[in-house]
Amino acid sequence: MALADFAAVVAFHGHCCPGLAMGYRAAVAAMTRLGLARAKDEDLVVVVENDSCAVDGFQVVAGCTFGKGNLVFRDYGKQVYTLFDRRRQEGVRLAVCWPGVSESEEEQEAWRRYLAGDRSNRVARIVEQTRQRKMAAILAAAEEKLFCFGPPQEPLPERARVHPTVACDRCGERVMAPRVVRWQDRSLCRPCADREAVSL
Ligand SMILES: [Zn+2]
Ligand SMILES: [Zn+2]
Repeated sequence: MALADFAAVVAFHGHCCPGLAMGYRAAVAAMTRLGLARAKDEDLVVVVENDSCAVDGFQVVAGCTFGKGNLVFRDYGKQVYTLFDRRRQEGVRLAVCWPGVSESEEEQEAWRRYLAGDRSNRVARIVEQTRQRKMAAILAAAEEKLFCFGPPQEPLPERARVHPTVACDRCGERVMAPRVVRWQDRSLCRPCADREAVSL
């Protein structure tokens, strides 16, 4: 099985957009750099430094999903992705360095109006055309134009583990043991601990 194509990523994501195109290119580039022709689920783990559309590229192409625990989110707001192959203990870090496509005066004006709430046909048409042009440029660009490649800047994340659950002493709902908050001799879930703190 070859790597997923962009159509498969769009089907998963629900729409096509420049961010998704970038994530797709990043996932394919990372897989290629690691010499992987296909996703072998449990052996791969990705650390993503944003939670934008782009992340879905890794979920589909690399098979790294939030649910399986081999997608690690760090809320840094950076377009940086580090893909690791556990078996070979190797990884590659990609930072987006794409300068973007230049926009005409008309396109910039349409975007300003769009952000201000203008949804007229003319503004919507120009914004959509710009998006399509950006997406096409990203899909066609050389990898070296899109990304700076380097070694991982953090160690391989630990494997996802299954933890025992305990009942919260306030709401009775079950909580993963490492997430339990000790509060005045009671074991609480995080929301209950926050409510107790507020009611003090
Ligand atoms: Zn999107
Ligand atoms: Zn609770």
